[in-house]
Amino acid sequence: MFTDRISRIKPSATLEMTSKAAELKRANKPVYNMSVGEPDFSTPEHIQNAAIWAIKNGHTKYTPGGGTLELKEAICKKLARDNNLNFDPKQIVVSCGGKHSLYNACQALFQKNDEVIIFKPYWVSFPDFVTVTGATPIFVNTDSSKQNEPDFNDLINKINNKTKGIIINSPSNPTGGVWCDEAILQLLDIVKNRSDIWLFSDECYEQLTYDTPFKSIATFAPQLKNIITFQSCSKTYAMTGWRIGYLAGDMNLVKAISKLQGQSTSCPNSIAQYAAIEALSGNQNCIHEMKKIFHQRRDLILNELKKIPETLCETPNGAFYVFPNFENYLNKRTLSGQLIKTSSDLSLYILDQTGVVTVDGDSFGAPGYIRLSYATSNETISKAIFLIKDALKKLDF
Ligand code: PMP
Repeated sequence: MFTDRISRIKPSATLEMTSKAAELKRANKPVYNMSVGEPDFSTPEHIQNAAIWAIKNGHTKYTPGGGTLELKEAICKKLARDNNLNFDPKQIVVSCGGKHSLYNACQALFQKNDEVIIFKPYWVSFPDFVTVTGATPIFVNTDSSKQNEPDFNDLINKINNKTKGIIINSPSNPTGGVWCDEAILQLLDIVKNRSDIWLFSDECYEQLTYDTPFKSIATFAPQLKNIITFQSCSKTYAMTGWRIGYLAGDMNLVKAISKLQGQSTSCPNSIAQYAAIEALSGNQNCIHEMKKIFHQRRDLILNELKKIPETLCETPNGAFYVFPNFENYLNKRTLSGQLIKTSSDLSLYILDQTGVVTVDGDSFGAPGYIRLSYATSNETISKAIFLIKDALKKLDF
């Protein structure tokens, strides 16, 4: 009944867990949600006010397909200020969230017989963005003890004539890993003679690094035309529901994507675009305040996780996720005799026993791992890890 295109994609695992959490809440059961992929803060007030101003001043109509010139100018100023990148508004497309920007770029650039490299563990949507175009995702291993930087031998082996794209996501969802400068330079060196390979740099967590400062990949090779920088207002300004993300890159690609967008969503939400101008150009203190809290929570959750035996959790430098390895708890039985075979079984067992919502590593291409988001209160973090520890203790050894 449906097209091949639809059968090639899966529902988003993270959004699925969010709806499971909502179900438990509706049934009045205690829920400790460690699955969320968004800041638990409200959108800062000055940004809210900019949206109210836009509504009251008639900015409630269609805008140009790729976003308003004012917002594109604000994005260029932001890229220069925060990332040391020089772009012209003609090199920017604003979309309905960073996810939409990534989706559009895959639609514009990939098709059947193309291969696109994705690093494992990956954000759940990357493989689907690629398969829906008819291209094939090719997975490359990373080193979990080194911020999930690439296994360069694996990368070199997997690049061939069909390779059309490489998707990079540092800081990463789900690992929180942030690649060091050397890793980025090594990757750029490997592809230096391949102007036919598009390098996607998904930088939606750019403002959330804790131990080393963030550097946008395009700053390492400003001469390269095949780097596309993707950023978003979602995580940086607690604006996930506003749906504003953007990409910066080659002008012809920008034209192609604007055309596609003009024939699909028409344009990003006009009111949200005005809020985004304020977010990007207004007072930036909110970013530092939220980051400080995330940093404290990261340290808290890592300390709490140390109390769970037989579990290893690396220290991620960015985003708001930790990605502990629970392999030692697989192939054990629950008190009722059920065998825990996969991290998905483990995640569901934890949910069932404790009300703690997590996302299994299988969905991110990392069996044995579980993703925990610390975009929640200290109390929830401490309680959730205590409950997980208790539930794991009940598995037989
Ligand atoms: N990239 C990554 C790695 C993400 O985790 C997300 C959100 N979960 C996005 C892109 C997209 O975010 P948005 O569409 O809200 O900008």
